[in-house]
Amino acid sequence: MNVYFTEEWVKGFMIGVKIDKVVFTKRTKYQHLAIYDTPQLGRILTLDNVIQTTEKYEYLYHESIVHVPLFSHQNPEDVLIIGGGDGGTLREVLKHPEVKRAVMVDIDGDVVEASKQYLPLWNTGFSDPRAQVLIQDGIKFVAETDEKFDVVLVDSTDPEGPGLVLFTPEFYKNIAKILKPGGIMCAQTESPLATPEMVREIYQRIAKVFPVAKLFVAPVPSYPGSLWSFTCGSFDADPATPVRQPGDSWNLKHYSPEIHRSMFVLSPKIKQDIGITY
Ligand code: SAM
Repeated sequence: MNVYFTEEWVKGFMIGVKIDKVVFTKRTKYQHLAIYDTPQLGRILTLDNVIQTTEKYEYLYHESIVHVPLFSHQNPEDVLIIGGGDGGTLREVLKHPEVKRAVMVDIDGDVVEASKQYLPLWNTGFSDPRAQVLIQDGIKFVAETDEKFDVVLVDSTDPEGPGLVLFTPEFYKNIAKILKPGGIMCAQTESPLATPEMVREIYQRIAKVFPVAKLFVAPVPSYPGSLWSFTCGSFDADPATPVRQPGDSWNLKHYSPEIHRSMFVLSPKIKQDIGITY
């Protein structure tokens, strides 16, 4: 079979990934979901024709979005994940013994079910008794919940389709209200190389809500620009400083305390493009 999955990273720049096998496809209530086997990236999951996660590189994304905020927190007992349907973020969160409860809120039950069935590498967290999975719109959950969290992770799709609301000022303001003292939010905030204008807009929105707003980057070769950004927001914690560290048995492939600090070191061009002044 000489069939390629193609994705337009930015207008006029497309990538192609050879497919060996179509594992699963479904038009869900919210998006087009597909899972493919590929010779170069292993199993991949796409939503609305955008690569979400790949067997080869998922650790880069998941270790970054989870361990930077969680290792910057003194005692992350209650963690909320908005999105994250593939389960990779949940899997990494549950490696922290401090975590007593991890609530994951994804709008699309079909993504969660397909991931449980077809993505064994990603889904080891779903059966953990500390995990609670809710199928609901994340914006509604943060607006209505009475609960408070130590860490809130926003593992969303891009700012279009059902994920658009997860980049609004209203959403960030509601997250600020449900953070406990010392709490940290960490959101995926797109590519500073491929779409710097978009990252600037999102970063500035977060910086209006949180007195501490720090952006960091990680390489993710399967995403536009191959460099991805995440932005942490807090009232009183420093997400750039790890206060605990993983044990050897965790077998992490990307995260270490040294990498943690280095991820916050940004090039002059990225700082200028995003409007970062610290
Ligand atoms: N890029 C990530 C990675 O590499 O692992 C994957 C992102 S994860 C698949 C994104 C999830 O956000 C999807 O499962 C999607 O259903 C969910 N999502 C989109 N809009 C949402 C919303 N409004 N509320 C909750 N979840 C949402």
